Amino acid sequence: MKHDSMKTIFLDRDGVINENPPNRGYVCNWNGFSFLPNALQAINILTVSGFRIFLITNQAGIGKGIFTVQQLSDIHQRMLKEMNRNGGEIAKIYYCPHHPDDGCPCRKPKPGMLKNAANEYGFDISDTFFIGDSMSDIIAAQSAGASPILVLTGHGRDTYNCYIKSNSNNKTRMPDKIFTNLYSASRWLQNKR
Ligand SMILES: [Mg+2]
Ligand SMILES: [Zn+2]
Repeated sequence: MKHDSMKTIFLDRDGVINENPPNRGYVCNWNGFSFLPNALQAINILTVSGFRIFLITNQAGIGKGIFTVQQLSDIHQRMLKEMNRNGGEIAKIYYCPHHPDDGCPCRKPKPGMLKNAANEYGFDISDTFFIGDSMSDIIAAQSAGASPILVLTGHGRDTYNCYIKSNSNNKTRMPDKIFTNLYSASRWLQNKR
């Protein structure tokens, strides 16, 4: 099977591909969605380099009743269309719609969405990367066995500063790599193929 030789990469959405909404709010419609600089180009680089890409995103705004599944899927349809137009392809978007209090197995920092993808597509998570901007992304990656990569867009600077302030001997929540943004990460990953 051709897919067996594909490298897999997981991407967080908000703060990695698109701007985080202000005040820890939610992207509720397409007007509230704006791509980060060079993000579309980064998705293109990863795609043409032969990576199979999954999006892994917490969308608790659904569980909180702030927006609907239909609104989310409208945003994702438009986002994928822009990516396709720019030569990028996403294999599947996994989202957690649950309220943080629900205790579901999919909300990051839990690794449920990564594990679901591995089960559905049949690959070894230990051979994957997960790019995110938050501590919950790094913890989810580590719990699932993926290699965590931190980008400094979105909440990435705050996440990075947590390391500076925290005990430098505590390596348990450290990403394997840190990049300025998804574009520079994709340029590095390009050579990992
Ligand atoms: Mg994020
Ligand atoms: Zn969930």
